Amino acid sequence: MKLNHSNLSTELQVFCPRRTCSYYQSLDNKITKDGTYITKNDNIARQMFYCDGGQHRFSETGYSQLFCKHGSFKEYEQAAKLSCLGVSTDGIADVLTKDPRTIATWQRSFSKKATIFHESICLMVTLTTFFLQMDELWSYLRTKRKQLWVFVGFEVETRFWINFELGSRTTFTATKLVKKINHYFKLFLLKKPFKITTDKLAAYKNAIESVLGNSHYVYLQIVKKRIKMRLITVQKKFVKGSKDDFTGKSQNTSYIERFNLTLRQRVSYLQRKSLGYCKNKSNFNHLLWINLYDYNYRHYHKSLRRPVVGQKKLRFNKRWNHRTPAMAMGVTQEALTWRLLFLAPIRVTH
Ligand SMILES: [Zn+2]
Repeated sequence: MKLNHSNLSTELQVFCPRRTCSYYQSLDNKITKDGTYITKNDNIARQMFYCDGGQHRFSETGYSQLFCKHGSFKEYEQAAKLSCLGVSTDGIADVLTKDPRTIATWQRSFSKKATIFHESICLMVTLTTFFLQMDELWSYLRTKRKQLWVFVGFEVETRFWINFELGSRTTFTATKLVKKINHYFKLFLLKKPFKITTDKLAAYKNAIESVLGNSHYVYLQIVKKRIKMRLITVQKKFVKGSKDDFTGKSQNTSYIERFNLTLRQRVSYLQRKSLGYCKNKSNFNHLLWINLYDYNYRHYHKSLRRPVVGQKKLRFNKRWNHRTPAMAMGVTQEALTWRLLFLAPIRVTH
């Protein structure tokens, strides 16, 4: 499947999003367009649909949880964008002159849709590149005495942020992350071994061994030794596989470490030396999901650009084709927008 703005309605079939309807998410149901409407807060027309089986109308906002949320699409987009620039919920509320609780509700809706979107897209397509790096970032929870860790899984060649997990710095959390990643990648289909590099934390080794078992993978640990914050030695420990399996610039954890910096910039809860640390774990989770969508599907990544071939090098000619991580992964054809996320009809499967 290749997603872009124009083929949205043909690739993703519309369905009835009303939970109480007997044709909820049913495929053999006829949905027709049935006029448009404008709301008090938004003068851009919204589409209405008619569910033939249940004989009722519903709005296109029914595909996200933004129905009856008293905002315009422009405001929703602004709130989502500001969430990805390291602005706190109170800050966004101030900019948009809304109540902070309203913004928190919006963020919850965005995040839920982003979760469904990312998961169904990753499962619909067979992900084919497979150089995984994992790392963890610390933050605080509630009182500053308690630490909260974010475990992140990152595909290096496409810069695709595969998934994350919030929790303590233990094998339990790492295992949950590896399980999620394993769910997306169909490892038995791969011809080359699945490459993994992490730091020396034993939790990864335990998690990888228990989840991946006898699958075809190679694993390298980068052991860094520091004395008083100063790096003394870097040791490479090949847990599974040998030097020859890690060709090119792959014997490191640099990519994920750079990505951690990006995350710290984007997520207000992760900023260092600030008072804006997390007071509520689920808010943190929501903010990370919003950022995952923005980073993977919306934002061009500079190192993924490709030169335009077969064109004269004139001053005003386009020189680069820019790509998002999702485009590099082969999941989408162009950079997606927030509006597309809000309106994309995606079935919830449990
Ligand atoms: Zn219906």
